[in-house]
Amino acid sequence: MSRMQHYKHWQLETDNDKVLWLYFNKQNAAVNTIDREVMEELSHIIDGLQNDTEHKGIIIASGKKNGFIAGADIAQFNKFKDIDQAVQLLQQGQLILDKIENLKIPTVAMIDGFCVGGGLELALACHYRVACDDPKTRLGLPEVKLGIHPGWGGSVRLPRLIGAMQGMNMVLSGHTVSGKAAAKLGFVDAAVPKRHLVKAAKYYATQHPERHKATWLQNLSNSKLARMVLANVFRKQLRAKVNPAYYPAPYNVVDNWEDAGVWGDLPMQKEARTCGKLFFSDTCENLVRVFFLQERMKGLAKEIKFSAKHVHVIGAGTMGGDIAAWCALQGMTVTLQDREPKFIAPAIKRAYKLYQEKLKEPYLVQKAMDRLMPDVQGDGIGRADVIIEAIFEDLATKQALFKSLEMKAKPDAILATNTSSIPLDDINTVMQRPERLVGIHFFNPVAKMQLVEIVQGQVTDPSIVQKAIAFTRKIDRLPLPVKSSPGFLVNRVLMPYLLEAVAMIKEGVPAEAIDKAMVDFGMPMGPVALADAVGLDVCLSVAKYLGEYMNTSIPPELVQLVEKGKLGRKTGEGFYKYTKAGKQIKNKDFKYNKPLETISDRLILRMLDEAFACLREGVVADADLLDAGMIFGTGFAPFRGGPICYARSKGIHELYNQYIKQREQLGEKMIARHDWEATGV
Ligand code: NAD
Repeated sequence: MSRMQHYKHWQLETDNDKVLWLYFNKQNAAVNTIDREVMEELSHIIDGLQNDTEHKGIIIASGKKNGFIAGADIAQFNKFKDIDQAVQLLQQGQLILDKIENLKIPTVAMIDGFCVGGGLELALACHYRVACDDPKTRLGLPEVKLGIHPGWGGSVRLPRLIGAMQGMNMVLSGHTVSGKAAAKLGFVDAAVPKRHLVKAAKYYATQHPERHKATWLQNLSNSKLARMVLANVFRKQLRAKVNPAYYPAPYNVVDNWEDAGVWGDLPMQKEARTCGKLFFSDTCENLVRVFFLQERMKGLAKEIKFSAKHVHVIGAGTMGGDIAAWCALQGMTVTLQDREPKFIAPAIKRAYKLYQEKLKEPYLVQKAMDRLMPDVQGDGIGRADVIIEAIFEDLATKQALFKSLEMKAKPDAILATNTSSIPLDDINTVMQRPERLVGIHFFNPVAKMQLVEIVQGQVTDPSIVQKAIAFTRKIDRLPLPVKSSPGFLVNRVLMPYLLEAVAMIKEGVPAEAIDKAMVDFGMPMGPVALADAVGLDVCLSVAKYLGEYMNTSIPPELVQLVEKGKLGRKTGEGFYKYTKAGKQIKNKDFKYNKPLETISDRLILRMLDEAFACLREGVVADADLLDAGMIFGTGFAPFRGGPICYARSKGIHELYNQYIKQREQLGEKMIARHDWEATGV
C-alpha cells in the first residue's frame, strides 16, 4: 500500500489494485462518532476525488479495532444555538453524503461491528455495502430512541432502497439487525465471515457489479397512492406503541414520507427541518440525558482489573436460573446448583429458549449451553470467581449457606447475595469475614432488565464492591451502587407506589383506570399489572420488610389475595384474571368519571416522596443515579428523564406542597421526613 494523505480523523491509502481505502479513525476517541470536524474533513476528501481517474473504487472502513461508526456525536446534540442552525448543519451533512452518492468512482462501505445512526446513513450513501456476519455487527437507525429521527438522509434512502414496508419499519422502530438480516432485507450487498470481508469489499470496489435496486413492488410501496394508504397503517401501528405527544419523532417520519416520498430534494429538506426541531424538544433533551446517565454507569469501575471467568449460582429458581443463563450467554463458565436436579431442569430449558432467541445460530446456542453446567453437588464453589446466592428469601437459610460457602470458596472469590429485602448486615453476622459479602441484586426478568443494584453493607469491603461493579459490566448489565437499607433503591421507591395503587382499588377506583393512567403518563405498564407480574407473594414479602422500616401498613387486600393463593399472573389470578397463556383478561368498559391525571398525580407524588427520602438517607450517591436506577430498573417514563428530573421540571416546591395537601386530604399527618427541598436537589 502507498500512503497518500493523512487527516486528523481520516487516513487515505491506495493499494496495489488501485483501490482507495478511506479509514475513519476518530482522534482521541475509543469509537468512531461523527461530528462537525469529521464531516468537514470528509467533505474536503470527497471534493478532491470528484475528478479522480486513478482509482477503480473507494472503500470506506473503520480504522478502529472496535466497530464501524456509532453514529453522530451525541454530545453535540444540545449545543445547537437554535433550530435554524441545527437544520443548516443537517443540510450540510446531507450535501456531503449526496456528493458521495454522486461520485463517479464506485464506493463501498466495509462494515465490521456496529454501524448505526449517522454511520449507517453514510454507508447508505455508498454504492455498495458489505458487512461482517458475526454477532457484533449490528446495523440500524436508532435515532428515535433519542427522541429525534435520521437527519442525514437515512429516513429517505432506506425506504427508497428496500421499499417502504421494511425500510420504514427500521426507521420507526429504531431496531438494529445483524449483517445477515441486513443482506436479506437488501440494504447490505453481502454479509460474509470476517476473514472474507476485505476480499468481498474489494470485489465490489474493482468489479462494479450491478447495484442493488428496489423491486417493482418496493418502488410501488413508495408511490403517492401507496403512501396515502400505508401512512395510516404506520400511524396506527405507532399509536399502539408510543404516544405522539411524548414521542413525536416517528410520527414526523411518517408525515414527511407521506407528503414528499423518497425521490428528489423535498424529502431531504423535510427530514432536516423536522429533525432540527426535534433537537429542541423536552423528549430529546431528557433521552440524551438518559443516554449519558447510562454511559456514566457503564464507566463505573472501569479501571478495576477483575477478570471473572467462572460464576457459581446457588438456587435455580426464577432468578438464579435466569442469572446463570445470562452469565453463560455473556461468555462465562457457569455452574448452577440447587437442592435436586429437578429444580435445575426448568432453568436449563429456559436458557435454551433464551439462547435460541438471542444467538440464533445452532453452533452458538450449543456453545452457550456447554458453558452452563448443572451442579447439584456444588463442585463449582471451589473454582468460582463469583458466587451468587439466589435461594429462598429467608434469613436463617441464607445465613447457613454463607457460613458454609465461606469455607469452600476461593479466598478472593466474590460472595454475593441476590436478596431483595434482607439487609446484608443481618446475613453476614454468621461469617468469619463479613466484609466479603456484597449484594448483586438483579431484576426480573434478568434478560430484559438492564439494571443490577450493587449493595454495600455497613462492613462490606469497598474494593469488593468495585469488583462486583466490574463483574456486572462484564456481563453487560448496568451497575447501580446502593446502600444496604430495606428495599435498596428500586423496590423502596416502587413499593409505596404499588401499595398506593392497591389503596386506590379499595377506595373503588377500577384497577384498569389506575393502569391506564400510568401508561398514559409513560410507564411501560400500570402498577396493578406490575404487582401481578412480579407476584403478589413477592410484593407482600418486600412490603413487610419495608413496612417495618417505614412504619407503614400493608393493605389487607394484598394479604387476602396471597392467602387465597391468588399470586398474580403466575397462578392465573391476582388483581386481574389471566388466560392459560398468561394474557391479562381485560375489562375495557371500566368506569371512572374523573380525569385520569388525578390518579397519576397521586401515585407519582407518592413515588417522589420516597425517592426524595432515599436521597436524604444517601441510599444512592446522587439524584442522577436515582433517576437512572428508576429508568433502567422499572422503565420509569424515560422521556421524562426519571422521577427527580420530572420533579425539577414541574417545580419541586410546588409538587411538595401539592403532596402535603393531598396526604392531609387523605387523613394523614405529615412529618418532617417528607421535606423534599431539604435534599438540596
Ligand atoms: P425461587 O423460589 O423461584 O427459587 C429459589 C430456589 O432456591 C429454588 O429452586 C430452591 O429449590 C432453591 N434453594 C432453596 N434453598 C436452597 C439451598 N439451601 N441450596 C440450594 N438451593 C436452594 O425464588 P426467586 O424468586 O428466584 O428468588 C430468589 C432470591 O432472589 C430471593 O432472595 C429473592 O428475594 C431474590 N429476588 C427475587 C426477585 C423476583 O422477582 N422473584 C427479584 C430480585 C431478587
